Amino acid sequence: MIKSKIQVGKSAIGYNLFAWFAHFNHSITHHLNHREMRYFFTLFITLLSQFLLAQNDTIYLTNASFEGTPGAGILNGKMPEGWYDCGFPGESMPDVHPAPGEGVFGVKKPAYDGKTYIGLVVRENETYERVGQRLSAPMKAGVEYAFNIYLCHSEVYMSLSRTSNMEVNYAQAIKLRIWGGEGYCDRKELLGESKLVIDKQWLRYDFIFRPKINVKYITFEAYYKEPTPYPYNGNLLMDKASAIAPTGNTFDASLSNIDGKNVQTGINANSDNEKSNIDTSNFADLKRFEYTRPLMGTEFKIIIYHTDEAVAKQAADKAFIRVAVLEKVFSDYDENSEISWLSDAGKATDISDELWTVLTYAQEVAERSEGAFDVSVGALSKLWRKAFREKEFPSKADIRKALETVGYQSISMRERNNAVKLYKEGMRLDFGGIAAGYAVDEAIAWLKVSGINMYLVDGGGDIRCGMAPPGKPGWEIEVPDKLVNGELTFKKVFYKNTAITTSGDTYRYLEYEGKRYSHIIDPHTGYGLTNRRIVTVTAPTCMEADAWATAACVGIKKLLTVDLRDKENIRVSILEEGDR
Ligand code: AMP
Ligand code: MG
Repeated sequence: MIKSKIQVGKSAIGYNLFAWFAHFNHSITHHLNHREMRYFFTLFITLLSQFLLAQNDTIYLTNASFEGTPGAGILNGKMPEGWYDCGFPGESMPDVHPAPGEGVFGVKKPAYDGKTYIGLVVRENETYERVGQRLSAPMKAGVEYAFNIYLCHSEVYMSLSRTSNMEVNYAQAIKLRIWGGEGYCDRKELLGESKLVIDKQWLRYDFIFRPKINVKYITFEAYYKEPTPYPYNGNLLMDKASAIAPTGNTFDASLSNIDGKNVQTGINANSDNEKSNIDTSNFADLKRFEYTRPLMGTEFKIIIYHTDEAVAKQAADKAFIRVAVLEKVFSDYDENSEISWLSDAGKATDISDELWTVLTYAQEVAERSEGAFDVSVGALSKLWRKAFREKEFPSKADIRKALETVGYQSISMRERNNAVKLYKEGMRLDFGGIAAGYAVDEAIAWLKVSGINMYLVDGGGDIRCGMAPPGKPGWEIEVPDKLVNGELTFKKVFYKNTAITTSGDTYRYLEYEGKRYSHIIDPHTGYGLTNRRIVTVTAPTCMEADAWATAACVGIKKLLTVDLRDKENIRVSILEEGDR
């Protein structure tokens, strides 16, 4: 997390006030001289401008609730007042819903606010709908803004397929992207991106915008990008956009963001709200289905409770395909994976969103753990893996050479064209400590798209579960309990709606001269860890749990200074040899 500037700003004002007050007290016995008056005046102006900044910079959208005449958007038709069609040439415009009776394309959902809302689709011909407008006043570079909008997914959205020309359901869930620019439809800076909008009822999505340019125009874009195993026809409904209000925080917009954090994307407050579309009326009919598939170098397991086997099976299949696609991105064993290509070339542009997302978070964890977690350890992992395989300890010279290629600070990320560059010669990326967790999250996103809420996905120890199974307080999961005299014991705990991961040297280690070397590497020394430590982390997402578990194996002291618990609800529990 970046320290918000408001604290700095506030205390600066506080200090000024205090200094002035002390000064004033003192000078009350004298007369205010020239210097003091000037000081007082400057202070007054400073406070006044701070006050005005907080009051007056709220930006209002025109027709924020998308009121208009319900109907199918046609080529060169009329948009709801205030909005401009930023779609693809030759494609029809966004539709306004709901039309009385059968609705437009079967979309009947009542508006969240006012009478109508707008529907955006992505199509299998890789066109997406977008709408935009000019802002009532520009967002200023370096000023942080808060914004929210109500989003929803329609299960039915019948329209013509652009490839088969038959009527199909644009049923897939998609994301909303929000862009800032300098002209109509200009997508210069990505201000925010939602998660997949899978909920069938209106939910509020909150965004923090941190523009690095002065944003005069805003564009809302329906979005889903390759790689996806399916031709994508999806929809998103939008209603009741808020004003865009300064939060009071500012930041340095000129900072070149090596880690991509300053332009981080928006977070949806509710998308993990597992209660959103649960129908508890037919609990008795729920059956348990379990599926496994060898993926990402481990056995991926999906357990689902559902009434309908066909639905469960299809959902699990989709989720597995999703993981298979991610394997193609993140596997460092596969020399044709995206990260292998990136490591080979040392740079790439237009990297996949998946890689961007995971790398962004990996860099955040690297920074916050002071390099305990570092995905640039690839050359070292390669060396140690060979050592594990051949049961031969690597030479000091080899370790030193590989160590020279490591350093997360030498990875640069540029949002403009999703470009990544590795600045150290020979640097190789290894996502073994984070990608499985992300794959579990993505598998779950696909289960949810199919309306499944009672699930457990286990990506080889990276676990995430949803609603508790029928009649149970949660999913029963074995977690490390005690580590005594080298013996690890487990206990059974019930979990629901959480992710849980364990890291440590339990299964994979190399013994050399009486010492055990773990597959987790200390990026500062280049050696596999030799301490016996088992870390269990629970977190809202499996990617977070996975990354922090690995990080905590390398360096707990540093992590103790990081506040994971209160803000992020990430809990780290550590067993050390000798603990009881
Ligand atoms: P996990 O099982 O999630 O703790 O991840 C262990 C894997 O992460 C190893 O097998 C390596 O592929 C990778 N790895 C090893 N050391 C590190 C490190 N210091 N930071 C990030 N990833 C690492
Ligand atoms: Mg991990």
